[in-house]
Amino acid sequence: MFLRVITSSRSPGIGNGLTYETEEARITPGSAVQIPLRGGHVDGIVFDVQREREEHEFEVKKVTALLASEPLLTEAQLKTLTWMARYYLTTLRQSLSVWLPPPPWRTLLPQAQTVYRLRKTNPALRSVKQKLICDYLSGKDWVSEVELKRAADATPAVLRTLLKNGVIERDRKFTQDDSEPVMHQTMDHPKLSHAQEEAYKMIRNSTKPSLLFGITGSGKTEIYASLIADCIAEGKQALLLVPEILLTEHNTERFERLVGRGSLAILHSKLTQGKRRAEWRRIHSGGVALVIGSRSALFAPLRKLGLVIIDEEHEWTYKNEQTPRYHTRDAAEVLCREAGARLILGTATPSMETWVKAKGEYTLVSLQERYRTHGLPSVRVIDLGDANFGQHYPFTTPLLDAIGHRLLKKEQSVLFLNRRGIASAVLCLQCRRRVISPDTLLPFTVHQDAIGRPYLLDHTSGNRADVPKVCPSCGSTRLLTIGAGTQRIELTVKKLFPTARVLRADSDTLSSPEDMRRLLTAMQEGRADILLGTQSVVKGLDLPGVTLAAVLIADIGLSLPHFRAGERVFQILTQLTGRSGRAKPGEVIIQTFRPDAPEVALSAKHETEKYLEQEMKLRLYTGYPPFTKMIRLLYRDDRAEERTRKDYHALLTAIEHRTSDAKVNMAPSLFGGGREWHILIRGKDPASLLSALALHDVSVDIDPLECV
Ligand code: ADP
Ligand code: ZN
Repeated sequence: MFLRVITSSRSPGIGNGLTYETEEARITPGSAVQIPLRGGHVDGIVFDVQREREEHEFEVKKVTALLASEPLLTEAQLKTLTWMARYYLTTLRQSLSVWLPPPPWRTLLPQAQTVYRLRKTNPALRSVKQKLICDYLSGKDWVSEVELKRAADATPAVLRTLLKNGVIERDRKFTQDDSEPVMHQTMDHPKLSHAQEEAYKMIRNSTKPSLLFGITGSGKTEIYASLIADCIAEGKQALLLVPEILLTEHNTERFERLVGRGSLAILHSKLTQGKRRAEWRRIHSGGVALVIGSRSALFAPLRKLGLVIIDEEHEWTYKNEQTPRYHTRDAAEVLCREAGARLILGTATPSMETWVKAKGEYTLVSLQERYRTHGLPSVRVIDLGDANFGQHYPFTTPLLDAIGHRLLKKEQSVLFLNRRGIASAVLCLQCRRRVISPDTLLPFTVHQDAIGRPYLLDHTSGNRADVPKVCPSCGSTRLLTIGAGTQRIELTVKKLFPTARVLRADSDTLSSPEDMRRLLTAMQEGRADILLGTQSVVKGLDLPGVTLAAVLIADIGLSLPHFRAGERVFQILTQLTGRSGRAKPGEVIIQTFRPDAPEVALSAKHETEKYLEQEMKLRLYTGYPPFTKMIRLLYRDDRAEERTRKDYHALLTAIEHRTSDAKVNMAPSLFGGGREWHILIRGKDPASLLSALALHDVSVDIDPLECV
């Protein structure tokens, strides 16, 4: 047989595998093998098996050994890997890197061992050493070399002699995997409300992927639990993907109760290499019924995959920002199709991609009421442009009153800050323009020098300027530095409410699931009054004591020159409305410089569907994804600008020659400090234009999310 083998080597030339030959019948696609390469030996994964050779120009070497008793990857996983390589324009080796822990792959599964057994029953033996070995082997089947060394002091020399004299024989065998599957325990099926039951049935009866479009607090988790219970009862395994594992502490407890701690594996980025390999082995052995994890958990070695749930499917963390730059949603769709597994996407704010698919390709399951509680909280929009802050920016008087009120009633508040706005800009409250750099026409960011004096910095050109006294556009003196870090806001809150117990949650204060758990417990047990955090950390919380949720500056993200900026802000604001009043009637406050923006106005009225439809039309009309395809090319070195220009002109020529509908832009990227440039191509088939480029040292990002 001939095999295509993806080797553990990262040499670019052999990224799509090499051909080898073997007579070993146990080798199948997905098997781990040892192969000769450049005078040495490396690990490889068998990609496919052919009876006949396709090409004959090279001499084909032989596989040296089969390394593991079972294939490391299933057919469905290999097919998904192939799709990823093709779609995201990577080699098979690059795509493989997300499916397996780093090499050596041979240690992932029980390995073949050298074993011996007796051939002659009454051998003539010369030495005591030989006799010891033969006595030990007598009456036994195959015994490993390791065991012989330990039990009978066997040395290589003695074993060699015995082999030569035909007293013993030798083979290589795989030891048995001793972990027992721990599935099929009896699970209590969750009790669902009528609305939940309807949604659950609709998903069960659908043969297509489902979008569970359920408002915050509608009880999506219990529907997931029911579907997971069904999946396990059918003898299959389930996968629950979450945007960020640190946020799902409270959810994992729920699922631990459902399937039992022993049958649950939790995969997250803070696992050590050793722990990750151990979990890989445990999952591969079949002993795990449910895996919960962030995006890379999609590649967990579940061999009986029956269900994949992607919770908060709209979240940007599902996009991998390194090669292979896959989107979990798209890769999951392929994997589920290949494995015959059910796919469910859950969210209160569907991504535009999923919303469009839910109009045909997917089953749309809508759950628009909260589980047994009051309706959604009332939302107040406060115009920051009209506010008089004094010393307390960005706290307006109504917000301060609302917080004070909660403190009196011993209720809790959650305050969010949009992290993406951490680079502060100078905004004119009169004309509502930001102070921009004359060189690049991009907003200046505010920094502080060594003695704490503020200055303006243009991140693209590196130029500095003084903070102006009046607005360069309209001459107004009403200038304001917007965008403050959580740390500074924490100080302000503590100054304004000296007796309040304040907790801060952001990536600086949280580094492990334990930190998050401690913080949540403090809130749940009423040991804190105010939780302050970045939206990326605080979203998704289920805290019954919270009756006020406020976003301090809602629309910093809106001023980004990005076609997804609106969708993103809408998602954040809608998630925010989900944090308040989960047990008692609640209130939400949105502070914004642009109260009339559709993202602000429609999220305040909980009109998600209306917003989605409006945004969908806009995308269709302006020719943006998901109605067109987009590719981003990233250039990142000292010659980035020059190389970008060259490729940009090559693309323009190609578009003209091929009468392509594609549009192409080039620009320095907003956060790249001038050394990072990018080209954006969008159209019906932008990938077809790439053949016009050399693509050396360029990152190719298919369906990019970040593109400013
Ligand atoms: P979502 O994820 O849709 O925002 P959750 O799943 O967090 O909503 O549910 C909101 C709250 O309602 C949670 O506190 C949850 O425990 C409770 N809940 C939802 N469904 C049920 C149910 N069937 N039985 C008991 N409690 C439920
Ligand atoms: Zn102005």
